[in-house]
Amino acid sequence: MSELITYKCELKDGIHARPAGHIERLCNSFQAEVCWKNIRTGLEGRAKSALSLVATDTLFNDDCEITITGADAAQAASKLAALLNKLPQFEVTTNEETQAPAGYLPRSLRETQPNYIQGSRISGGVAIARPLVTQALTFDDIMARAPMQTHPAAQEKQSLKTGIGILKQAKLDALESKVGVEHDIIQAHLSIITDTAFQSAIIHFIDNGENNWRAVVLAAMDFCEILNRSSSKYIKERTLDVLDITVQLLTTLYGENALPPSGLQLTAPSIIFADSLTPSKFLSIDKQLLAGMVLSATGQTSHTAILARSLGIPTLTDIPFTALDLDPQQEMIIDGDPGILIIAPNNQVLRYYRNEMAVQKTMQQQMLANVHQPAATADGHPVEIAANIASFEEADAAFEMGAEGIGLFRTEMSFMDRETPPDYAELSDLYTRVVLRAEGKPVIFRTFDIGGDKPVDYLQLGEEENPFLGYRAVRTYPRYRDLFAMQMKAILSASAVGNAKIMIPMIASVEEVLWCREVLESVKQSLRDESLPFNDAISLGVMLEVPSVIFAIPEIAEHVDFFSVGSNDLTQYFFAADRGNTQVSSVYDNFAPSFLRALQQAIDEVHRAGKWIGLCGELGASKDFLPLLAGMGFDELSMSSSAIPGVKHALRELNFAQCQQLAQNTLALTRSSNVKTALKIRR
Ligand code: PEP
Ligand code: MG
Repeated sequence: MSELITYKCELKDGIHARPAGHIERLCNSFQAEVCWKNIRTGLEGRAKSALSLVATDTLFNDDCEITITGADAAQAASKLAALLNKLPQFEVTTNEETQAPAGYLPRSLRETQPNYIQGSRISGGVAIARPLVTQALTFDDIMARAPMQTHPAAQEKQSLKTGIGILKQAKLDALESKVGVEHDIIQAHLSIITDTAFQSAIIHFIDNGENNWRAVVLAAMDFCEILNRSSSKYIKERTLDVLDITVQLLTTLYGENALPPSGLQLTAPSIIFADSLTPSKFLSIDKQLLAGMVLSATGQTSHTAILARSLGIPTLTDIPFTALDLDPQQEMIIDGDPGILIIAPNNQVLRYYRNEMAVQKTMQQQMLANVHQPAATADGHPVEIAANIASFEEADAAFEMGAEGIGLFRTEMSFMDRETPPDYAELSDLYTRVVLRAEGKPVIFRTFDIGGDKPVDYLQLGEEENPFLGYRAVRTYPRYRDLFAMQMKAILSASAVGNAKIMIPMIASVEEVLWCREVLESVKQSLRDESLPFNDAISLGVMLEVPSVIFAIPEIAEHVDFFSVGSNDLTQYFFAADRGNTQVSSVYDNFAPSFLRALQQAIDEVHRAGKWIGLCGELGASKDFLPLLAGMGFDELSMSSSAIPGVKHALRELNFAQCQQLAQNTLALTRSSNVKTALKIRR
């Protein structure tokens, strides 16, 4: 049986690692072989291998032919076609920092005219240290060290299999203990190690008489050559990951001494100069001594760049340093924000930046020293500062950062990227671990918000003209009542050991609330029947993200304990402007007085009903909005963990009476531009 799908790529970054991962996972759940041909490039790849899919260099608007052959081809074709349709919904915007204008210098430095080179910022901040130039290991260097000896093919293959198994297990173990960016990178490396096309290419070279060393390097070089041909910078930057895995696989197969030590031993604070650094090499460097980096050939989206940003290491790119005369004894300066490297700073410049670093360090220390202090304004008005999370690992990080609770657990994340829904055992175990980690602090579990931009295949929600206005979140619960009830049961089971709360997304009417309450009560009854412990007084809340709720607060408040504004969705529904559509981003306006008045009305109504109200959209992390949100009367703000120390610090500098005055004045304004001025925002 054979099926053909014609496909035009609608993804603006093309088929890069993430969509390729979705396609690979789906195709591997079928027996049928899936061959992906990009008509523009003429390149073909197996869709069961993410790497070989990426290597077809499928970019925006490329036409492709996908041939599916095998007994279950028809079924595979229909699932794949459905997935391809949905791919644009998985697109994420990268978190790259915006660039300060070229040539920008701090005003007080301009007249000293320091000798500087303009590069591009990868990660901001200031570094002062001596330079240390390091050579990146290339495939040619590695190939030059290939051992002469070749064992019979069967023996080479056996040791390859063992080596891959050991490396894979090491990555799986590392996944358990790492969080955030490091976790994502290990996941990406794991998918290269287990990539079927990569493995078959190595085997192919072994069958042609090569030993493991040469076979691994040749296969990796072939892949990198194809990735390098891509016109997408993002795809090109994956070559560093393939190089990284090559080194790791060879040292697993041939021992640690087979290649020069991958780590970089620093003995004094240094600014590292290199063309590029693999993520592993970067991770092995002592961060106490790593002042900054100049990576001349490293792009913004390489994994090393992402790591440097997440660890706050000032880093520049686009500086061709080989032509520079770098004196190893001469201190130099990176000013990451404008993206400049100051080569031979005079005393005045050094004094300026030393002072700048001292100020930044004191602020940072104050922030970190106080992260576990209660969040309140200078005059003692408390505003609970909580975290938005989607996994146990993030809960851990959140409490380290000083979160006073979890204001939003996006539970749908454990329903996505898989072929079947999670079961009760999995969810109750996860929720219990999070609640125990919270040590009595509140954890708000938002029941699954599937649909809209977060489809899951196995629920078969169907195609919709307007998914954001369609079958999403609470609206799907009546059809999937058992799944909803199972999730409620898992949350209730966690409530036996800590402070778990339930929150329902996308509520639009009191009737929906009543229906959810009824399910909650029936789940409680079934737990009683099974003699399973739970908190009978568990709080039930709703997200306020559909504008109709603002006008139904008194009747809804009779049946719930709290409200949390989902400002991301509330703004999109309030202005009828898609939250992900950049063409209407000026309509999606959080500064609009009309929007702020709607928020104020909601806060006042909720308080009048004797209940509490928080906010868990992106707005909650904005220091610009903080005085206004505090002054309007929000009881809680929930945000990503990394924003918590800064927001808590900023809150402590505020005076509540002044915040209230600011809110009153701002709500009387009639233009967004005036609101921006009132909030002292220069745009
Ligand atoms: C929101 O809409 O503001 C929100 C927090 O929910 P999500 O972003 O998950 O839709
Ligand atoms: Mg929402």
